[in-house]
Amino acid sequence: MTSAENPDSHLTTAAEDGVPAALADLGRLVRIPGIAWPAFDQDQLVRSAEAVAELARGTGVFDDVRIHRARIPGTDELGQPGVLATRAARNGKPTVMLYAHHDVQPPGDDALWKTPPFEPTVRDGRLYARGAADDKAGIMTHIATLRALHEALGDDLDLGLVLFVEGEEEFGSRSFAQFLDDNADEMRSDVIVVADSGNWDSETPAVTVSLRGNAKFHLTVRTLDHASHSGMFGGAVPDAMMATVKLLATLWNDDGSVAVDGLAERDAETPAYEEATLRDEAGLLDGVSPAGSGTILSRIWNKPSITVTGIDHTSVAAASNTLAPEITVVVSCRVAPGQSSDEAYRAIRTHLENSAPFGAQLEFSEVDNGDGFLVDTSGWAVTAAREAMADGYGRAPVDYGVGGSIPFVSDLAARYPGVQILVTGIEDPHSRAHSPNESLHLDTFRRAIVSETLLLGRMNDR
Ligand SMILES: [Zn+2]
Repeated sequence: MTSAENPDSHLTTAAEDGVPAALADLGRLVRIPGIAWPAFDQDQLVRSAEAVAELARGTGVFDDVRIHRARIPGTDELGQPGVLATRAARNGKPTVMLYAHHDVQPPGDDALWKTPPFEPTVRDGRLYARGAADDKAGIMTHIATLRALHEALGDDLDLGLVLFVEGEEEFGSRSFAQFLDDNADEMRSDVIVVADSGNWDSETPAVTVSLRGNAKFHLTVRTLDHASHSGMFGGAVPDAMMATVKLLATLWNDDGSVAVDGLAERDAETPAYEEATLRDEAGLLDGVSPAGSGTILSRIWNKPSITVTGIDHTSVAAASNTLAPEITVVVSCRVAPGQSSDEAYRAIRTHLENSAPFGAQLEFSEVDNGDGFLVDTSGWAVTAAREAMADGYGRAPVDYGVGGSIPFVSDLAARYPGVQILVTGIEDPHSRAHSPNESLHLDTFRRAIVSETLLLGRMNDR
């Protein structure tokens, strides 16, 4: 079964052979617009979970496949349907949990999409669609890996397997902890492979070693009891917009770095990354300079950032000469890995309370915090993952920090002490997850499937 020069060739062959089918199934999955926001048709998440459960059954490796909805703690509501497929380990082999999520971000403005968001379209070696990368490609990487293992190993597959495909990752994973509680025994694992992150570029893999946390809240600023004609009192009283603009401006230094006492930074080396690459990947306009200080990647991976992502105020079309009494903004902070998100939130809140201009009244609500994570890179599984990626991609992986947040990773680590967590992914810097024209690089998809097949196939031989 194995060739003398390359004992893994049967794994690689099975993985490569399965890529076209995996791509076809991915195309079917992205046609289902499963979005966990209440404003969208929730039946689509049921369809999407059923499609994933069917794919899991089709791999032929599981003892049990089911769809489960866990209660959202503190409410009578059920969370969105997640898929749980399990298979017991044999002959003392480890159990591996494969994680991905089947819900997607809302499409945003359809007019900004070159092709319809839920119509899979291949252009220039990429598959375009909402969820093509985040995270239905993660699901299909796991499914394709399991198919390849079944094909290459047959009855010699002894690994314990847990496939966990969540249905509300993009909407705050509200029933995640309860889902783990409800299925604690079946989900116990030695290694967890989270396929929801990115790669250095479309050819160079990455092992994610740090994730920033997030702290998000609504801030309402009030200065007046009621609105007034700006010609009547303008110049003598501060309107809520003036107070809000001045207050928010205190959050940043002139160079755009965060100016809040009590927010931590992580001190760690970062790979070289040119400003020109940043300009290209982020779409920085001509003449616009980057923000922040220190190496570019330290700003994204290791330092906090603050963004105002929403504002409730009179729209441009409805604007009149009026002093606004009250304004609400959404403040979204990325927290340095290693700092608790609750602590970061308290620091920003204290800063705002101490900086309110004109004694403006502040109200904080809708607080949503999630912790970052530092991966323990000392375990055998990280070494095995690095080797599998080096072979699958033909290039050594980069140790990668993630500027975004996957708060459930810290939940998993807390729930299963001693578990080894591998954060991998199929995105590349051009994937535009969460944005219009999201896409998957098809060759990255192929390499990710080969790498994960090698990783699990070798674990089976450990
Ligand atoms: Zn995701």
